[in-house]
Amino acid sequence: MTDPYAAVPHPAAPVPAPPAAAVVVDCGECRGTAASGADGRPCGHCDGFSRRRAQLVLSVANVDTGAVASASVVPGTVTPTPTGCGDFWCLDLAGLLGELAAAAGIAQLYDPQAPDDPVLAPWLQLPTPWRPDLPANHRYALEAQAIAAESIDPWRLWLGRTPAPPGGTHPPSPATVIAVALRLGLTVTVGGIELGGLRSAATVERAVADCFGSLPDALGDLIPADPGTPIPVPATSPLLFVTNRLDDAAEPAHHD
Ligand SMILES: [Zn+2]
Repeated sequence: MTDPYAAVPHPAAPVPAPPAAAVVVDCGECRGTAASGADGRPCGHCDGFSRRRAQLVLSVANVDTGAVASASVVPGTVTPTPTGCGDFWCLDLAGLLGELAAAAGIAQLYDPQAPDDPVLAPWLQLPTPWRPDLPANHRYALEAQAIAAESIDPWRLWLGRTPAPPGGTHPPSPATVIAVALRLGLTVTVGGIELGGLRSAATVERAVADCFGSLPDALGDLIPADPGTPIPVPATSPLLFVTNRLDDAAEPAHHD
């Protein structure tokens, strides 16, 4: 059965032009050979490109307002911090994730694919030689290795609610799904089912939840295959989006 709310790339989506080239490093799994081992199949970590993109995109979306905030993490974006034991340096992205949530007016984040689990911000351990007194190009090269190691899942999306959703604890509306999808560079197809034809509020609520849950997978279609091409990062859109009320979406259309 096809998903009536499947998200597909939208050619007219407001995605800014990305920079011309991404930082890439040799794939650490195949050591730049592009092969997975004795069977000669393409390496599953770099898809046979032998290189991996040193870019991690974090996006958050407010399911009450449609606001979206994103950040591109590349070498130099985040100041490394020492781990608690003091033995390593790391890129702890929790602070950046918190800034994105604040920019999108979100009080509490959740993972759309595991909404009941605690949110775990990415935490990247840097290679042992990293030190703050190294020359910048050396530090960035080591940070690139740590970021590229995450490139098998390079675009992370979290959802969240406003502190006090208008009208109480109403469920997200179809309008917010569409707003979020468009701001991420996706559009939502409704597969021939008009929202006005979904007469049951429970049906609308389920469809909206399914669509929000499918957005992280849909983002995969927007990630360029060639690691040398950067992932286009959506512009932050913190403006309040006036949502349709669920009652309006579930109300059958009237024709005189
Ligand atoms: Zn590889």
